Amino acid sequence: MTEDHIIKLLEHRDIKPTAMRILVLREMLKCNNAFSLQSLEDSLESVDKSTIYRCITLFLTHHLLHAIDDGSGSIKYAVCASSCHCGEEGEHLDDLHAHFYCVGCHQTLCLSRVQVPVVSLPAQFEIHDINYVLKGLCPECGQKKRAETSIH
Ligand SMILES: [Zn+2]
Ligand SMILES: [Zn+2]
Ligand SMILES: [Zn+2]
Repeated sequence: MTEDHIIKLLEHRDIKPTAMRILVLREMLKCNNAFSLQSLEDSLESVDKSTIYRCITLFLTHHLLHAIDDGSGSIKYAVCASSCHCGEEGEHLDDLHAHFYCVGCHQTLCLSRVQVPVVSLPAQFEIHDINYVLKGLCPECGQKKRAETSIH
């Protein structure tokens, strides 16, 4: 991904593209799956931990990132698609997608095309957010398991 593209992503969310933010976002974009603060710290060893944390907080506030509680005990983060409005105030529940936690490789994936089902609630309840996490095996781990069972 070019620096130009990264700057555009930041500006699209009204974030001033400083050198540090560009560096952190570039690292985030390298992850195909959702990442934890810990894994980001590990891959950005030279960067101060509080700086990384401040970037995550800022990106979350500007909806460049979304947070996922996958039940593993550590919150995961993923970069939002530029058309994504998840987490924004108002009627954006349609933008929420499901997440998948693989029990084989412990990765959390965005199922960007799987919309979260919105249930109808009793009167007076107001939904602000939906955390929809499915657990099982990702295609790779599923294939591995099938290969193993066919050998034995
Ligand atoms: Zn989003
Ligand atoms: Zn897996
Ligand atoms: Zn996601």
